[in-house]
Amino acid sequence: MELKKIYTGLNAQEVAENRKKYGENLLTPPAQTPLWKRFITKFKDPLIIILLVAGVLSIAISFYEYHGLHEGTEVFFEPVGIFIAILLATGMAFFFEEKANRAFAILNQVDDDEPVEVIRDGNPKKIAKRDIVVDDIVLLNTGAEAPADGKLLEAISLHIDESTLTGEPICHKSTHEEDFDKDATFPSDYVLRGTKVMEGHGVFRVEKVGDNTENGKVFVASQIDNSVKTPLTEQLERLGNLITWSSYTIAVIILIARIAMFFLSYDFTWVHFLQYLLDSIMICVTLIVVAVPEGLPMAVTLSLAYSMRRMLKTNNLVRKMHACETMGATTVICTDKTGTLTQNQMRVYKIEVDCSSEEHKALAKEGIAVNSTASLDLSDAQHPTVLGNPTEGALLLWLHEKGYDYRQLRADVEIIDELPFSTERKCMGTLVRSGLLPGKTILYVKGATDIIRYYCSDIMGNRSWDDITAQLLKWQNQAMRTLGFAYMIIPDSSEFKLHEGVISQILDSIKDGNNGLTFQGIVAIADPVRKEVPDAVRECLDAGIDVKIVTGDTPGTAKEIGRQVGIWTEKDCDRCVITGPEFEALSDKELSERVNSLKIIARARPMDKKRLVEALQAKHHVVAVTGDGTNDAPALKAAHVGLSMGDGTSVAKEASDITIIDNSFSSIGRAVMWGRSLYQNIQRFILFQMTVNVAACLIVLVGALLGTQSPLTVTQMLWVNLIMDTFAAMALASLPPSEAVMQNKPHDRKEFIINPSMSRQIIGVGGLFFILLLGLLYMLEYAPINSMTDLLTWYPTGPRELTNHELSIFFTVFVMLQFWNMFNARAFATGKSTFHFKGCKGFGIIVLVIFIGQIIIVQFGGKMFNVTPLCLTDWIAIIVVTSLVLWVGELLRLINRK
Ligand code: ATP
Repeated sequence: MELKKIYTGLNAQEVAENRKKYGENLLTPPAQTPLWKRFITKFKDPLIIILLVAGVLSIAISFYEYHGLHEGTEVFFEPVGIFIAILLATGMAFFFEEKANRAFAILNQVDDDEPVEVIRDGNPKKIAKRDIVVDDIVLLNTGAEAPADGKLLEAISLHIDESTLTGEPICHKSTHEEDFDKDATFPSDYVLRGTKVMEGHGVFRVEKVGDNTENGKVFVASQIDNSVKTPLTEQLERLGNLITWSSYTIAVIILIARIAMFFLSYDFTWVHFLQYLLDSIMICVTLIVVAVPEGLPMAVTLSLAYSMRRMLKTNNLVRKMHACETMGATTVICTDKTGTLTQNQMRVYKIEVDCSSEEHKALAKEGIAVNSTASLDLSDAQHPTVLGNPTEGALLLWLHEKGYDYRQLRADVEIIDELPFSTERKCMGTLVRSGLLPGKTILYVKGATDIIRYYCSDIMGNRSWDDITAQLLKWQNQAMRTLGFAYMIIPDSSEFKLHEGVISQILDSIKDGNNGLTFQGIVAIADPVRKEVPDAVRECLDAGIDVKIVTGDTPGTAKEIGRQVGIWTEKDCDRCVITGPEFEALSDKELSERVNSLKIIARARPMDKKRLVEALQAKHHVVAVTGDGTNDAPALKAAHVGLSMGDGTSVAKEASDITIIDNSFSSIGRAVMWGRSLYQNIQRFILFQMTVNVAACLIVLVGALLGTQSPLTVTQMLWVNLIMDTFAAMALASLPPSEAVMQNKPHDRKEFIINPSMSRQIIGVGGLFFILLLGLLYMLEYAPINSMTDLLTWYPTGPRELTNHELSIFFTVFVMLQFWNMFNARAFATGKSTFHFKGCKGFGIIVLVIFIGQIIIVQFGGKMFNVTPLCLTDWIAIIVVTSLVLWVGELLRLINRK
């Protein structure tokens, strides 16, 4: 039997001393693979290997040309250029992957900041898990995770899931030797870091922290699992494979065609043939390198890492990567009421409990104090704060305001058994040896009045059920949360053996016709709607997302809250609301017919939530569901996106995909916005990349087939690849979210990421670029062009080899076309001009890098890039003419807007 004690815990000085002596409650992550080793793995990519082999062959040829044919040192420029490009491409990709990984690591650290309830300086308070020290007194409630190892001082119906350490799902914990499980891996009065309370509650004194805990010994740094494939990554993988195979096919065609052309047009010598073959292989390899979208996975990882880090700032802690993107496709959100729509800062509005005699008064206050798992942090006596269950906290605050010390009332009783509150049961009970009425054993029960009235055979103070129900309804229509109290004095002669589990037996015996409880009275607790929620609900509704309330509260309260936040309107009829038991009684067919129109499920139990999720999914909805309790885990797991609450239990958090740190519905709206923006950014990247791909592949294909020389050299193509794969991935993948996405309807999760409008743009613009470039190539081949102005007086004189100067013009035109098109990609799907500068710093920098990079390459790239410097007028002419791509884009956007 338990006698609740008043603990004082450590004071600030003792905390500091113990931290110094025994260390912090942090786990040292295992040593990481060194940076250079991680970098080396980048070279395992088959494409890079091919390029390296080609680079080595190219060096061999250059040596032959230098020594055998006595050519100048410039023959080494091309192989050097290839190696620089390889290093640059792998280096950049590596850098950004590391950056993304670091962002994930920051998210993982959040776990050490989880709040834990402890007693310090005689007061319960919340501190971060990392701040726990040896000898701290820790309070464990249902759903909590033990923050350190230690010995139990109190255990009430305590059941702990130790599966993370011992594989044992449920262990019964106790402080009484006679109840100890001798076969258990760890002592029955010992709790271990990382294990979770599945039922009951307890208090323990910390003995080991950080690396000294059992958990510390087996610690493997937890990582956000970014290996899981999401619908989007799967789609992108398929797209990547398609492009890869097409590019291989084109490459093989080029190779065969070029070899055939060699035999048709050259006198065969081995040296000549080998040189030609190597050139052809290099063209094919670079074509593959350019075409294969290596930047695609990087763009996705970067966008996700970026979104996840930024979402954390808007109170969304993403636990599973896929959740970011799935949130964007969400069509229904099933939300809790308490805490998510309301503030969860409960205050007693009115209490009507019979206190007509001293004994009745004693029963009322003792019941409130002991039949409760919450506590008050009284360190600031003027503003006490609630720890634990907010409903119970409101009752303790009321008691405190009336001048009663709940801690003393608790310390004076001896607890025999406790039946914890759960959403299924909707009531709780505590059996005690009374402190205020000495010698009496009393069962206190509180909970939803419609549930506990069936256990009552008597009502205190001349009240009738009709009168009570009318009062409750009145309060519920004012959005109040209502509760009833009852008690029973268990006679010494009782047939029941007073030990753990006896409350259930007593309640069951009442159902069987035994004498029942005495009803003491009712209370109304106010929990106002959060200020930001009505707007956030409006935003979701406008975004085509349905919002449903699933609450344990009564239909009256739920409807009123629904009305206040804008979910429940005048038009809604009785068919839009249902209670848990009615919901359960629906057949699958009936449910399927009604599920779309349901707006509120009141008096719901966790399994109703799960069934609702599944019914909606069967109707092809993408469902996000919120949950805070341990029992919500099945619904959270079943939903496409499970959203746990910052105040929720560790079990709920673990089962969820995203934790809404501030519990607010408005953060859910933010998550949708991020998800949609992420999807759009990836679309933008694909749009840009594919357009370049179409143009580059076609021009190389045609160039390679028409002439002996490719219009873009290997090193030039590697630069183009760097621009479109790495730079564009960075620039477009990290564009900030836009509010405008919330005016669209949700996209179909299964639809192909390249939508018809994108296909049109890719084929149209890519094809147009190709025709323009082909035209330019033709003009350059058929007349000598020394500057851009020569094009105006062009007259064909017959085909000839291109000079390096002409190649420079062609190369610059090609890059600048893509350069301007990047702005169009940025504006894609915004319906706005590309010239909006909010949050475009990253984009601006990258655009500048590409532009300056191109100038440097052309002016100073020389032999390495097969270029000669262009004069200022050529630059201006190229920039102005190619910028038409942007102006036409702007014009089309303007027309579309109109
Ligand atoms: P939501 O699911 O939206 O968070 P809720 O918090 O109102 O809704 P529950 O916590 O399941 O849902 O509460 C259902 C009912 O149980 C309440 O209306 C109240 O009457 C009763 N109740 C709530 N908390 C307690 C408690 N700690 N002890 C006893 N009864 C409670």
